[in-house]
Amino acid sequence: MSPVAFQNTFAGSPLDRAGARRLDAAWLAARLMDPASWAVAVWNGKLLADEAGLVMLPVAFATTIEPDPDKLLFLGTDHLGKAGFAVDIADAGDPAAGPLEGRGEFHELRPLAMRLSGEHAAIAASARSLFEWRRRHRWCANCGQPTRAAEAGWKRICPSCHAEHFPRTDPVAIMLPTFGDRCLLGRQASWTPGMWSALAGFVEPGESLEEAAARELLEEAGLTAVSVRYHSSQPWPFPSQMMVGFLAEVSDDQATPDQTELEAVRWFTRLEAEALLAGKIDGAFAPPPLAIAHQLIKAWVERF
Ligand SMILES: [Zn+2]
Repeated sequence: MSPVAFQNTFAGSPLDRAGARRLDAAWLAARLMDPASWAVAVWNGKLLADEAGLVMLPVAFATTIEPDPDKLLFLGTDHLGKAGFAVDIADAGDPAAGPLEGRGEFHELRPLAMRLSGEHAAIAASARSLFEWRRRHRWCANCGQPTRAAEAGWKRICPSCHAEHFPRTDPVAIMLPTFGDRCLLGRQASWTPGMWSALAGFVEPGESLEEAAARELLEEAGLTAVSVRYHSSQPWPFPSQMMVGFLAEVSDDQATPDQTELEAVRWFTRLEAEALLAGKIDGAFAPPPLAIAHQLIKAWVERF
């Protein structure tokens, strides 16, 4: 159960992360032999799913396909007390056309998440993000030697210099600027033509989330924030951002896109923003509901 009122897609895992069990080698070994334990399969960042959602394989079967313990992650225990794992299959060929034939297909998470349950989307997000981190941190950032997995996949240790490396979660401030009865959306040149979204940027060292939101507004759109109000956050597993969403009231409507991050900005009234979310404006659309940007616009339309 989430302790917050608003929950974005990719949050809301139903699992007890059971952090203390990550250090319990005997318990983990027993769970890997337990026929009730399950595993989700990841291959090249894609998740194994069928029409019903994520495919939960018996973990003993999954670890015969990918026996390398470095590719295993303990996700937690489910409401029945069963242990859940994820395996990152390293096969060059598509395992769904090999040892996993008939058990589903591997899908990119972003389109897949549109049809997964919220609980499955959150489980998939944890597995994908963690394995992406592992893939990018196989060598020690301190001394350059190979690292190895520890704590059931949640940590990497360098046997050479003994540095410990933990999964990254990079904070991004994402905000909807508002001025009276209008909100501002922007678009980047690389986006699908017609898509308008909230403004966003990575938080820099030595900066609060609110300061990052205000700085990005000024840099990207030339707007000055007079108040910044928190709405909600979203783990974004592409590969490992933490989107922190704000509504930002600005001092005037003289917005200018910087032409570096943003190629254009556009003000929308509440009615126009509502129509945009509903897909009722010709040639313009907002991100889908799974994106926190959509939820920020919706919250403002509904006078959050
Ligand atoms: Zn090292």
